[in-house]
Amino acid sequence: MSNLISISESSFLVGSEQPATVRAPEIEAGVGCDFDSYLLVPDNTLDDRIAAAKARLGTDVVILGHHYQRDEVIKFADFRGDSLKLSFQASQTDARYIVFCGVHFMAESADILRREHQIVVLPDLNAGCSMADMADIGQVETCWEELSSVGDFKIVPVTYMNSTAAIKAFTGEQDGSICTSTNAAAVMKWAFENGEKVLFLPDEHLGRNTGYRMGIPLEQMIVWDPYEEMGGNTPEAIRKARVILWKGYCSVHQRFSPKHVERVRREHPGIRVIAHPECRFEVAQAADEIGSTEGIIKAITSSPKGTEWAVGTEIHLVNRLGKELKDHKVMSLDPSVCVCTTMFRITPQHLLWALENLGEGHVVNRISVDERTRHYARLALDRMLALR
Ligand code: SF4
Repeated sequence: MSNLISISESSFLVGSEQPATVRAPEIEAGVGCDFDSYLLVPDNTLDDRIAAAKARLGTDVVILGHHYQRDEVIKFADFRGDSLKLSFQASQTDARYIVFCGVHFMAESADILRREHQIVVLPDLNAGCSMADMADIGQVETCWEELSSVGDFKIVPVTYMNSTAAIKAFTGEQDGSICTSTNAAAVMKWAFENGEKVLFLPDEHLGRNTGYRMGIPLEQMIVWDPYEEMGGNTPEAIRKARVILWKGYCSVHQRFSPKHVERVRREHPGIRVIAHPECRFEVAQAADEIGSTEGIIKAITSSPKGTEWAVGTEIHLVNRLGKELKDHKVMSLDPSVCVCTTMFRITPQHLLWALENLGEGHVVNRISVDERTRHYARLALDRMLALR
């Protein structure tokens, strides 16, 4: 029997807050109660309790672990991967509960793609994404109006998977498409077949790296700063531009610099450098290869034994590859830790709290995208999937 008195099922819309629960008196620490109590659960009992809670839920739950998730949490994941792959995998299971050990926009994506009977849970609502948060829907709508006022040209929005559901929906409604770091070039090519300009959201670096590899000169790609009038551009510059890059970035990947590439090459002659396309243009240019998380894994696992790699992406993925691929030497491009601090907020305590509450029939931290947003976001996703 649960010690939690549930005021109502904790159902959350975009940008919602912690669940409303009241703790009953005389409860045992961390047993079916509010989250704070779980901070008292002894560390050496966490693994057993998580395993037991998961086993009790059986096929009712599927746990998703993003590649950047910490080891203590990802070891309980049924699937590991990037956000799109994980969301699809979860939707193909019969699980009633999808517990997403990732960040907020990833859980939203799972909710957009879930089946009717499924419920998505994010173990800590504070696990956000700095990049996704840099494109506010109000700012994007203003940008769209201002761009449209400059001339009679068709702009196609292309939005990276790492964005809020609201931005995905805006993209769907404006005849645009979602892209991933793997297929950004294919989606941009499609966009140019359907319009004269691309508004690329919300990652400036992925947009620029992709555009440049497609042969678009840097001077034809301008940056839109949402805090400046007309994004900080003249009408003339907008008319000439082919790509308008939203001024957003990933706080983890932007930390890598060309100096890191120089140093690792100096200290490890012959090393291969692979950078995520969310890295700055200068880093992408200095690297031997550019790859999405899945692309990085593939490049390293398929390289000859003994190959030494310096990887420009989140540290948990790099360290895990280093541990698992004994035949290769894998290190981070930046020796000072590059951690996704928001994803790191999901602790084993959060996972346990979510699972034990689900076991008691209490849905905590539900992520629920409203129907209209879901409809248009799905439209934008479907346009991308049609390009496969
Ligand atoms: S690594 Fe960057 S883009 Fe990915 S979730 Fe963290 S902040 Fe967001």
